[in-house]
This record gives sequence, structure tokens and C-alpha cells, in this order.
Amino acid sequence: MDNDKNNNDIDSVDKGSNGSGDKNSKEAKDKNDYEAVCYICRRPESKVGKMIRIPNNICICSDCMQKTFDTINNNGTPYMEMMGFPPNLMNLNNMQNEIPKSQKLKKKKPEEEKEKEDKILDVKNIPSPHIIKGQLDEYVIGQEHAKKVISVAVYNHYKRVMTNTMDDIEIEKSNMLMIGPTGSGKTYLVKTLARLLNVPLAITDATSLTEAGYIGDDVESVVSKLLAAADNEVEKAERGIIFIDEIDKIAKKKNTNNRDVSGESVQQGMLKLLEGSDIEVPVGASSKNAMVPMTTVNTRNILFICSGAFPELENIIKSRLNKQSSIGFSADLKDKYDNDLNLLQKVAVEDLREFGMIPEFIGRLPIIYALEGLTKDMLVKILKEPKNAILKQYQKLLRLDEVLLEFDEGALDAIAQKALEKKTGARALRAIIEEFMLDIMYEIPKDENIGKVIITRNYIEKKGVPYIEMRGTSQKTAVPMLEQKN
Ligand code: ADP
Repeated sequence: MDNDKNNNDIDSVDKGSNGSGDKNSKEAKDKNDYEAVCYICRRPESKVGKMIRIPNNICICSDCMQKTFDTINNNGTPYMEMMGFPPNLMNLNNMQNEIPKSQKLKKKKPEEEKEKEDKILDVKNIPSPHIIKGQLDEYVIGQEHAKKVISVAVYNHYKRVMTNTMDDIEIEKSNMLMIGPTGSGKTYLVKTLARLLNVPLAITDATSLTEAGYIGDDVESVVSKLLAAADNEVEKAERGIIFIDEIDKIAKKKNTNNRDVSGESVQQGMLKLLEGSDIEVPVGASSKNAMVPMTTVNTRNILFICSGAFPELENIIKSRLNKQSSIGFSADLKDKYDNDLNLLQKVAVEDLREFGMIPEFIGRLPIIYALEGLTKDMLVKILKEPKNAILKQYQKLLRLDEVLLEFDEGALDAIAQKALEKKTGARALRAIIEEFMLDIMYEIPKDENIGKVIITRNYIEKKGVPYIEMRGTSQKTAVPMLEQKN
């Protein structure tokens, strides 16, 4: 949609310039869409007011211009270098290089245009939870509870964003914490959701975050990632989603005397982000430095979804439940929860606290839910049912050569079994399929008479070969080239 709109815009500029070429019209459009940034202090024109334009597309704000004159009058250029200004500042011929586009800020839209855009995301236009869930169902297998919770939470979140303040009842932010084993679809769920809602999404890994000032990314870098995902449009970013994976890795370190710069401190650092505050972020770069323009992003309406596998959390839940149930008349057997597959669903805030998450942090993630571990049946479904299922992708590729690709039930079962053994959830499926589809994709196009390929359990288990059918016949034969190989 957006692309279409952009193309139309470009077209209209094209026509206006009497077809003076794509490049010129695009430049003209870029000039309109991006605002100037001061060459020295990197603040945008909307903050510093009208700028002085000097040759070679250089803009300098009046503050910096004044400071420059003062400095030259007092001390000359060595002082400026000491202040961190580039030594070639006054040599205009060296300033040919324009600031890269990724460091430019989109201009804020005038009020009328903003209103028009708001209408697209009007409260009445936010799809209701059952519709969001219905769309998620087309891509994500199982995880019924998680899909339901996320649909309602997202619906409420965007309702809150759109209504802003109706009265003095403030709707609380719906930040979420997702718990689930690796490869169970946590990232996939959020990615699918952001695509369906057409909002920008930034995905980061909590393991790379450290307290500001230490090696690693500081917490605010997640916001600049979102800004980049929103094409540097602050307003778009302010309605986006930030997904922070591996959040369990920033649990408080136990028994340590050192400063916990990648654990508890990161949780502390994230508090104000989660709650909503103005964050100064660099545009077009992940770290702040003198050469990067800065802008302010408010995180009040950004939806934060944190996720993690939380190993050992099951044991914490189990011991809490055992403790509770061993008191009083209704005392249960001690091993009651040992084989409970849905133990994670019983998670409570106190378990997370015990795990090492600080109470203030959990308090800002009011929606907590768990995803199920994938079973063999679910893995088989993941292979064939989602809209962009792996099997459908291969079938489409071969259909372009007019070859049908079929997997018999035994083959699907064998692939799922192999994936289950790897213990990395659905992530293992693609690797397994790619391994044995390589030969098929290589051999089949060699013979144009092949009309159908049938993958069997034996082939997956390396005990046999796949079968083929020639065009116009229904007689199955083994794939000759692969026969020699096995
Ligand atoms: P994690 O839970 O570790 O974030 P991912 O969401 O990255 O796992 O899952 C890896 C891949 O497995 C996804 O890209 C997706 O293709 C597939 N997948 C995982 N779970 C599901 C599911 N429930 N339904 C459909 N596909 C899934």
C-alpha cells in the first residue's frame, strides 16, 4: 500500500517536471519529505528554527553560527578542533558530501494530514480481537491461548492509543511477557501480528544490551531500531511494536559481587522505556555521537513485547505448587506436577521474581502468558498448513517446472519425529527438509518428462528413495539417480 502511494507521489512529481527524469523527481520528493539538520549540532530545523543555508546544501542553525563566529573572533580554529568540531569545518569545498539519507529525519506532518492518517488507524477500524486471531490462525499453528491473549491485548492497546485521553480514566499499557520454549513461535507470532496490523516492528535481543556506558548496546538503542524500521518517521515509530527476545538472559545474577551491568541494571534501564518517556535517539545509527542527528521519540504508545524461554522456571513453579498443595487436608502427592506438560501456563509473578526479574520490571509487563511446547502433531501441521508453509513453498517452486510434489503421511511423520529429537521446536524443520530436498531440486529438472515426485518415509529415514511418475502415466518408479546414491 505504502509503496503504491510513494510511486504515485513520484509519478506526480515526474509529470510536473515534464519528464525531466526519475532521478530529479526523486530528489525533489526527498527534499520535500526530509527536513534539514544543522551541520554542526545535528539538531533538526523543527527544533532549532530557521537555519542559515550556505552553498553545497549545508545548513547551520543560528546558535551554531553565532558560536562559530564567537570562537573565530576569540581564538581561531585550534580552539574549535578542541571542541570537537571537524577541522575542515570552515573549508566549504570539503563539505560536498551530503548527510546520508538514513540520517535525515522525516518532517512532521501538518495537522490535517496527520488527522487523515489517524483515520486509517481509527478506533473503529482496528480489527476486533476475533478477526486478529482469525488472521493469526492462518499462519500460526496451535498456541490458541497465546493467540487469544495477544489479540485482545493488541486490540486494547491500539484502542488506548487512538482514544488518547477520553476522561480521567487512563487505560493501562498492555506490554506483554511471553514465555515459551525455543522454536515455539514467539517471534513468528509477533512478526505476523506486526505485518497484519501494518505497524513498524523492531526485534532485538536482550543479550546484547548493557547498562549505558559499558560495551554493548544501551537500552535506548532498541528505540532507534524501531525508528529505522519506521523509515525515520517519528510518528509512525511511536505506534510501533518493540520485541525483545531472550529477556530471561537479563535476570538478576545470583551470588555475584561484581556490578551486574547486563542483568539487573538493564532491567532498571528499561523501566522508563516500558512505562513511556521521551527518549533522545540517534537517527540512522545505533549509537550516539557528535556526527549523528538526534531526535526525540516518546515510548508511551509503543507496545513492548518481551519473550524468553526461561529455563528452570518450570522447577520454580513446581516447587511453589508443591509447597502450596502439601499444606492442609487437601495435601497432594509430591510428584503430582512432575509430568504436567502445561506447567509453564501456571506461571505467577512470584515465580518470575524468584527467577531473577525485578518486581518493578515485571510490574510494567502486566500481560504474562506462556506458549506450549510443540508436539509431533503440531509439527506436522506446521509443515503443511500455514499460508506460507515450507511444503507449500517447495511445491510452488516445483510447480513452476510443472512438477507435482507430494509427501506421504509417513514422510511428514518422520520429518516431525526428527525435528522433535533436535529439541529446537519448529526451527529444526526447515533444516531437515532442506537437507534432503537438495537432491530432489537438483535431479528433477534434469528430466523434463517427470510429472510428479513422491517423498516417502523411507527416503527421510535414509532407507529408500523417493518415487517419481512420468507425465501421462501413473506408474511409480524410483528416482534412478538417487537410487545409486543410497
Ligand atoms: P521462538 O519461539 O524461539 O521465537 P520462532 O518464532 O523464531 O521461535 O520460530 C522459528 C520458526 O518456526 C518460525 O519462523 C516459523 O516458521 C516456525 N514456527 C514456530 N512455531 C510455529 C507455529 N506455532 N506455527 C507455525 N510456524 C511456527
